[in-house]
Amino acid sequence: AKRNGRGTYQFANATMNEAALERLRIEAALRTAIESDTLRLEYQPLIHLPSGRIVGTEALCRWDHPERGSIPPGLFIPIAEDCGLIEALGGLVLRKAALQLRAWHDAGHPELMMSVNLSARQFQRGVVLKQVEDALAISGISPDRLELELTESVLLHDGEAVMAVLRRLKALGVKLSIDDFGTGYSSFAYLRRIKFDKIKIDQSFVRDLIDDPDNAAIVRGVISLALSLGLAVLAEGVETEEVAQRLRHLQCTYAQGYHFDRPLRPEVFAQRLQSLRPS
Ligand code: C2E
Ligand code: CA
Ligand code: CA
Ligand code: CA
Repeated sequence: AKRNGRGTYQFANATMNEAALERLRIEAALRTAIESDTLRLEYQPLIHLPSGRIVGTEALCRWDHPERGSIPPGLFIPIAEDCGLIEALGGLVLRKAALQLRAWHDAGHPELMMSVNLSARQFQRGVVLKQVEDALAISGISPDRLELELTESVLLHDGEAVMAVLRRLKALGVKLSIDDFGTGYSSFAYLRRIKFDKIKIDQSFVRDLIDDPDNAAIVRGVISLALSLGLAVLAEGVETEEVAQRLRHLQCTYAQGYHFDRPLRPEVFAQRLQSLRPS
């Protein structure tokens, strides 16, 4: 920075330093949380709409900062991506989620699926492939019980390299789903290049399904696109019975949202699973 006037330099400098310092403090705390293994996961049920049964769960990362309390993933995931921590974070999320799924399989729910979010950044060096293999190996879960959620932004990066990693993941037998569908730059071209298993319709379209005819048209269109391509389709952000009802009517197969469950601590998720078992 250059000095361009009396006083202003010092002020700007101090403000920048404060923002930069704050950022560094968060990065350092996040690094510590990763190294000390204090990040945890919550699990949100994925619901089969016609039957109301839980068929799977999405692992969502949680960070309880020692002084600041809970910091949302919408804040710390982008920081982890920027400062190179996302590979380590992604690896531990995969391991934890796979081990948790193994425990639930062993507890009498062998059909349960686990969905894990992946960032575009995790594809950059291809490390994600090894991390998925490791998670499968340590947990012993069947690859087809694990679903990886990626946003369309993943497919924008370095086309061929990413495609190669995705094909190898498919070859392992894991499922691939497109997260936040409709919010990216969907060219649809990638739908021909790689066989995805599921489309997750972004909650921004689902929330106003009843009142907004445009959103309703988009949701209807995405459902029919998915069904005609032979893909499963899930609606995110279902907050009311009215929306759930409409989605059933539109032949949407799966749903997720506060109407059914919030993301749950593992012991609460287990109770919820148990309560559904025929006894
Ligand atoms: P996402 O993958 O789209 O996850 C769904 C988000 O919507 C979650 O927010 C969930 O709590 C929230 N949600 C679920 N149902 C409803 C609903 O009915 N209404 C509303 N308003 N919200 C609902 P969360 O847990 O704060 O996560 C935010 C984002 O952070 C995730 O969005 C995902 O992009 C990212 N994220 C979370 N965990 C991980 C992770 O382990 N790895 C990576 N790469 N990203 C993660
Ligand atoms: Ca997701
Ligand atoms: Ca989503
Ligand atoms: Ca999202």
